[in-house]
Amino acid sequence: MRAKKYLGQHFLTDSAVLEQLQRVIAPNKQDVFVEIGPGLGALTTMILPHCQGLQAIEIDTDVLATLQYRCQHLGKLTILHQDALQVDFSTLWPDKPYYRLVGNLPYNISTPLIFQVLEAAHRIHDLHFMLQKEVTERMAAKPGSKTYGRLSVMVQYMAEVHELFDVNPTAFSPPPKVESAIVKLIPYQKKPVQAKNETHLAALVLQTFTQRRKMLRASLKAHYVEANLHKSPVDLTLRPEQLSVADFVALSDYLAAFS
Ligand code: SAM
Repeated sequence: MRAKKYLGQHFLTDSAVLEQLQRVIAPNKQDVFVEIGPGLGALTTMILPHCQGLQAIEIDTDVLATLQYRCQHLGKLTILHQDALQVDFSTLWPDKPYYRLVGNLPYNISTPLIFQVLEAAHRIHDLHFMLQKEVTERMAAKPGSKTYGRLSVMVQYMAEVHELFDVNPTAFSPPPKVESAIVKLIPYQKKPVQAKNETHLAALVLQTFTQRRKMLRASLKAHYVEANLHKSPVDLTLRPEQLSVADFVALSDYLAAFS
């Protein structure tokens, strides 16, 4: 099958990488899974025989027959022929408290997909994603580093982040132009720091990182009366990349009263 570039199709063909993924995901018969972008079923056929059921969200009509055929005797597969960006992940497996999420994500939409999936973090036991290495680095980045940004703060607010291993372009057909890596997220059942208003936190992180070179005071002046900034619990001469997740939560809790 000819891979479709506009759908980010890079099919995983390296059996050593698939075995490594099987070891780290370790599916078992109690687990139910959701997979984003099953394609021709490289991950699906590896997980399906070992779990209770798998729902696979795939946009491309042309891969569905092969996917069905390869999975027909392997277990309980439901294909959702949909755009994953239109799926409300909190509604999947409604009769189960949690599901496990996996995907070798289409790299062109990986960041919006991650933000969307995070909205359903309370339903997700854990997730394993294959991503561009540059994206997994941003997810795990610490304050003060060049790659620390909106994605780092919002992912680390919601979940524990574990960078597992790197995957060479030669593991895929066709090979992508970039290095890939596997990241595991474990959403917190009880967050180490809880924002009073999560919508406000998300907006604050977006506003400040949109102007990441500016001091916080300068970017916040556009949204808040300056007099209200004086008692901020966080030093507003800092730049957003210098704030920890806990600092962002403290600042958001303080500013939410004035917005
Ligand atoms: N899981 C397969 C593998 O590892 O070989 C395929 C991975 S490929 C990188 C990404 C898959 O996501 C493709 O099958 C592609 O058709 C699918 N895809 C792309 N955009 C999508 C979207 N918006 N919603 C659902 N699936 C999508």
